[in-house]
Amino acid sequence: MPVELAPAYLKKTRELIKKYDIKPNKALGQNFLVSGEAVRRIIEALEPDGRNVLEIGPGLGILTEEIAKRASSAAAVEIDASMVNVLRNELGNYNNLAVIHSDFLKVDHEKIREMLGEQIAVAGNLPYYITTPIATSLLTSRLAPETIVLTVQREAAQRFFARPGERVYGPLAALSQTAYDISPVMRISASGFYPAPEVDSAVVKLSRRHGPLPDMGAFSSFLQTAFSMRRKTLGNNLNGIVSREETARILESMGLPADSRAEMLSPSELAEFSARIGR
Ligand code: SAM
Repeated sequence: MPVELAPAYLKKTRELIKKYDIKPNKALGQNFLVSGEAVRRIIEALEPDGRNVLEIGPGLGILTEEIAKRASSAAAVEIDASMVNVLRNELGNYNNLAVIHSDFLKVDHEKIREMLGEQIAVAGNLPYYITTPIATSLLTSRLAPETIVLTVQREAAQRFFARPGERVYGPLAALSQTAYDISPVMRISASGFYPAPEVDSAVVKLSRRHGPLPDMGAFSSFLQTAFSMRRKTLGNNLNGIVSREETARILESMGLPADSRAEMLSPSELAEFSARIGR
């Protein structure tokens, strides 16, 4: 189903803010998406038609409504009670939509899976302060989303695409590149949001790879330890769980220097190393 050509999202957002006397909460990253072009491209990337969709941080529900119109079932998890009130009032006629009042980091993923079923697609326009924890929680979740479309600050987007040796290469890049193919969808300038934030955003799409994948929870814990002190060697960072000699032996057998740092290894090398030490 195509998205309307020139939907008046800014007008609607202003009206909702007035009607419910909302004071956008900066601490919760409440900058609402009002760009029709961005909504259209996010929906196109998400492909919600007939699918089961989870939205994280629905806010005033601009994207939520476009999802609910198309999805087979939808769940939207929102931390702020005033947003939940708007969503339940304004979107109560969509019987396929469940609005869950919770911090996404505390929500029970098993319950969401029972609600939505398998083959889940996820959308989220995430506040900067919580982008990495929420993405990590999704990447290690039993929900195993098929598609994840995230709107994040441009700087945060780089953390998904980063390659070994780059400043922002770390656990998030290794985790996401191991289980997903990642593609840029678009940039959104600050004027695409209301109120306008200080920086531009970007939309990234993650498409789940098929075939054998590591246990993502265990791999994530390994990565946290491996990258805990970036300038230290893998041998030093992992010393509590595997001896320095064993680390050096495994690295050499992989054709890598015995004093490698985690940031020098590709996602697949990190996954292989993690599997070799059983973590
Ligand atoms: N999706 C809406 C949009 O695009 O206009 C709102 C996006 S706004 C950037 C982020 C939303 O996430 C806010 O509604 C905020 O209250 C919510 N939020 C922030 N932290 C959250 C958390 N830990 N769990 C669930 N929702 C959260």
